[in-house]
Amino acid sequence: MSRTIHSAARKANSTVAIIGAGIAGLCTGCYAQMNGYQAHIYEMHTKPGGLCTAWNRKGYTIDACIHWLTGTRPGSSLYKLWREIGLIQDLDLVDLHEFMRMEFPDAAPIIFYADLDRLLPHLLETAPEDGKLIRRLVADAKRMARVELPSDLPPQDIMGVGTRLQTMPRMLPLLGPLRRWNTLTMAQLAARVHNPRLRTAFQELMMPEASALTLIMMLSWFHARQAGYPLGGSLPLAEAVAGRFMALGGHIDYQARVSEILVERDRAIGLRFANGAQERADVVVSAADAHATIFDMLKGRYVDDTVRGWFESFPPFPPLVFMGIGVNRTFPEEPRLVSGSNLGLTQPIRVGDTTIHRLNYHIHNYDPTLAPAGKTVITCSFPVGYEYWRELSLDRERYEQEKQAVADAVVKALDRRFPGLAEQVEMVDVATPATWERYTGNWHASFEGWLPTPANITIEMRKTLPGLESFYMAGQWLAPGGGLPAGVMTGRQVVQLMCHEDGRRFRAPAS
Ligand SMILES: Cc1cc2nc3c(=O)[nH]c(=O)nc-3n(C[C@H](O)[C@H](O)[C@H](O)COP(=O)(O)OP(=O)(O)OC[C@H]3O[C@@H](n4cnc5c(N)ncnc54)[C@H](O)[C@@H]3O)c2cc1C
Repeated sequence: MSRTIHSAARKANSTVAIIGAGIAGLCTGCYAQMNGYQAHIYEMHTKPGGLCTAWNRKGYTIDACIHWLTGTRPGSSLYKLWREIGLIQDLDLVDLHEFMRMEFPDAAPIIFYADLDRLLPHLLETAPEDGKLIRRLVADAKRMARVELPSDLPPQDIMGVGTRLQTMPRMLPLLGPLRRWNTLTMAQLAARVHNPRLRTAFQELMMPEASALTLIMMLSWFHARQAGYPLGGSLPLAEAVAGRFMALGGHIDYQARVSEILVERDRAIGLRFANGAQERADVVVSAADAHATIFDMLKGRYVDDTVRGWFESFPPFPPLVFMGIGVNRTFPEEPRLVSGSNLGLTQPIRVGDTTIHRLNYHIHNYDPTLAPAGKTVITCSFPVGYEYWRELSLDRERYEQEKQAVADAVVKALDRRFPGLAEQVEMVDVATPATWERYTGNWHASFEGWLPTPANITIEMRKTLPGLESFYMAGQWLAPGGGLPAGVMTGRQVVQLMCHEDGRRFRAPAS
């Protein structure tokens, strides 16, 4: 359905009401302000960030999000976007040398080095019988490291012929890797591997339904030094973008939970809040959960087969049980790992209704800001079922008991790996899918939107709903794979669409 041009209807200083002060809402707000709109963000919580957040417990900071920030290489198009919204300028970035370690009780670890020239010989030595596959995988990751996928393109429906002609030749080298790896899921890739330890590694690195292309892309980012860690973690990132938004003249209302998007004659005209108050706006952008936006705030009135198909056929990232542990010791001898270690357990652990045979643990020994001197935060995360934890959370007593049982079991397993650790534990905090859902409202407590699968990784999802004018959506649910880049890219594209419809030239000066 074509959308009408609003240049007559929307004034130069049109008001834009944005739902959610996660990274996507904040970025949308920044670009809206840069382009002469008056943006007002409404956030149900007391601080910005959404999933890009952290919390303090007994002097320790439990960082819930950032492992790596894609786009940290100066000169890349994503770096340019981070500069525009003021996220990257003041960061201390650390390039870690290892992405992840797979640990086995009875054999040497497999180390996923950031540098592909170290990774190749290591994997070949580990699994010589898989030499052909390993060489192909590393060669394609290197090829992708040389070519950056442009992050600053406008949405396809308004992309000019010139931009298309400029972009297409740049993408040609990527066609081979795309064809080879995006026809495989991680489970199918793992099934092709002969070496049992390498097969386990591929089974554990990502969800089984994820496209194998995501692995190649990730390896390419680390090799290209395009995925650094920002010292200080997640919250300073969100605060920096909120600061940029305010400096551009935007407003944020906290503790403002939107219950309904107001619509008149198929045009969004404002918001109703949980306390009954209403605000009018010329444009509404939802940067909150897509399911809640479409089926609750808009009561499912603007849905077609495509939109229904997202929720019927795209798998979301699974919800997590996420543990923060504060320990009174340092780990100078342990490697500094982007995504932590994955440890094969000799005794499985129960996490609710899920049996865990391998423990994801992450020693944050490279960020001194997260713990008092001489102490360290460890985080552990487990993909689990959503329904079990949602129902359990309704029975407060059983819910707390189950969280305690998980905490005890995990500390015991870590104590076997690091003898004496149990005695040094000063803080344990367990967040469950019920926590994530309560905190961010995300559908089925997904922590990153849609899993990137072979079916969805290359599609561009539309940012509007059929039949509804003056309404847009941004955020992780609009770009399979999610993450912070999805927030800035979709937020920018939404404002590009607004400018296009209003006949304005899009502007995005760096701060
Ligand atoms: C454990 C973990 C690790 C991760 N690691 C990384 C990583 O290393 N790198 C990376 O790039 N990404 C990572 N991510 C993903 C990243 O955090 C998210 O994809 C991203 O922050 C999503 O941003 P968003 O703005 O689209 O959505 P959200 O962060 O979900 O923001 C939505 C906002 O809307 C608000 N909201 C919802 N409903 C309403 C309502 N009715 N009224 C008002 N406000 C509302 C919410 O409170 C929230 O603030 C990780 C996430 C987790 C949980």
